[in-house]
Amino acid sequence: MRQKIVAGNWKMNLDYNEGLSIFSEIINMVNDEVTGKQSVIVCCPYTYLHSLSALAKTHPKVSVGAQNCHQEDAGAYTGEISARMIKSVGAEYVILGHSERRQHFGETNLVLSQKTNAVLSNSLKPIFCVGETLEERESGQFFDVIKSQISEGLFHLDAQQFGQVVLAYEPVWAIGTGKTATAAQAQEIHAFIRKEIATQFGQSVADETTVLYGGSCNPKNAKELFSEPDIDGGLIGGASLKSRDFVDVVKAFN
Ligand code: PEP
Repeated sequence: MRQKIVAGNWKMNLDYNEGLSIFSEIINMVNDEVTGKQSVIVCCPYTYLHSLSALAKTHPKVSVGAQNCHQEDAGAYTGEISARMIKSVGAEYVILGHSERRQHFGETNLVLSQKTNAVLSNSLKPIFCVGETLEERESGQFFDVIKSQISEGLFHLDAQQFGQVVLAYEPVWAIGTGKTATAAQAQEIHAFIRKEIATQFGQSVADETTVLYGGSCNPKNAKELFSEPDIDGGLIGGASLKSRDFVDVVKAFN
């Protein structure tokens, strides 16, 4: 059985004290209310990783991740943070290829393949995001776009390395817009992603790969989305900033 995951992406929100307090609430609610086998990940700003990872250590269901990293382990890259640094403060995951990074910071599939290598070689797990823009959906190009994001970003890996990857399908037109993909639209793409993985790595690897949905997922729509056969959880932006909403999304798997 592949792992079910609900991951929060705080983006550039919350100050340190707010983050610490929401994270403590999440941990307490998960302890008290989550009865299933789902895992919970909170991807916070770099400067909170150390504290949140220390808090998460004694809570087996809860892990911490970063939202990006540089592709090199060290060097003259002023202001950048490497996967090695993220590992050294106790985090376990790194979001890669979020559409906001592709769009605002020019991250290409090639750079993302290098960042994936850096994450894996530091024994971290990537949460690798793919998804089409509204224009790409309306022009019918979306299968090709997603296929090239996956193949150029991840298909240089061997099956064992790929086994460490969590994928997230996030249609750009659904992120932060309140417009969710329907469960059927999301399932169609998740099934397509799993088929592409099976072609590259074999059916058993595809069956074990966790593929999350992201894009205006909230306590009201999570259960319907997560009940689709190829949707293994969510990457949650806005709703992860309120502990009650986030844990209610997590509980869609209870
Ligand atoms: C995200 O940024 O990964 C995301 C899914 O955001 P939201 O849930 O706010 O649409």
